[in-house]
Amino acid sequence: MLMSDMVCAAPAGMDNVILISWDGISKDTLLDLLQAGYLPNLSTLVQKGSFINITITDHFPDTMAGHAQILTGYPPEQTNVFKSMRYGEIPHGLTLFERLEETLGTDSISTVIVASQERSLGTIKGLPFYHAGKIVDYYYDRNSDAGLVGSVATEAVYHFAPKGRFFIFVHFRDAADAGYAYGAESPEQKAAIRKIDDATGTILKAIQDQELDKKTAMYVTTDHGFNTGPKDHTGQISLWMIANEPGYNPTGDQKDIAPTVLKRFGVQYENISPKYPGKALM
Ligand SMILES: [Zn+2]
Repeated sequence: MLMSDMVCAAPAGMDNVILISWDGISKDTLLDLLQAGYLPNLSTLVQKGSFINITITDHFPDTMAGHAQILTGYPPEQTNVFKSMRYGEIPHGLTLFERLEETLGTDSISTVIVASQERSLGTIKGLPFYHAGKIVDYYYDRNSDAGLVGSVATEAVYHFAPKGRFFIFVHFRDAADAGYAYGAESPEQKAAIRKIDDATGTILKAIQDQELDKKTAMYVTTDHGFNTGPKDHTGQISLWMIANEPGYNPTGDQKDIAPTVLKRFGVQYENISPKYPGKALM
């Protein structure tokens, strides 16, 4: 190999991605808590990284439609996931897990789902992530609180990091549960968000312990916002994403998240069929 070829091999293509969904947290709520210093781990990420204003433009803002878009990059017409009451299996091959295993090679990457809801992100037949569940190296999809999800995700980091590159998706349900029970920005929801921040901190620590923090992109985002009055999320399309690296665009669309992950792994998503409607955020 020529030296010039080695220089051309971008280090970005050698790295890992952890994508974390803090389910059901509006941008206003998150910014209030960040400014109050209530989320020390997320503050650490954003201080040296990027804050991105994310909008939903082509689907209903709920858990199943949101995660289908975050984890595929495609609209409901292609994923079959329109709403949490109207969904089918995402067609074979469209999820990020399948894309990465296919484009990078199954021996070259470990893919992991750690989800806190059996139904929304489960992998049994008939659910959106059925096909993804068959190819990921590990999945966890039991109804779980932030502490348990954080510990399972942390174990996944320690287990898969020594094997090479990894893509780990982590889902925290606690803030949405508190939103349904007490509304957005209630003391109960704020406490739930704080627990999610603590659990995210354990994942961050696992990365730092293995000296992978400079080789691992961490993205934290949400599937939809939450209303303060009616305790639902109708119309809550104003979202956010935080990256642990500087240089990301200040605004984007939920459909841009999947291309961002692919580009961070060095995958030329522009050439993939069906064509992605979004584009990478960096
Ligand atoms: Zn949700």
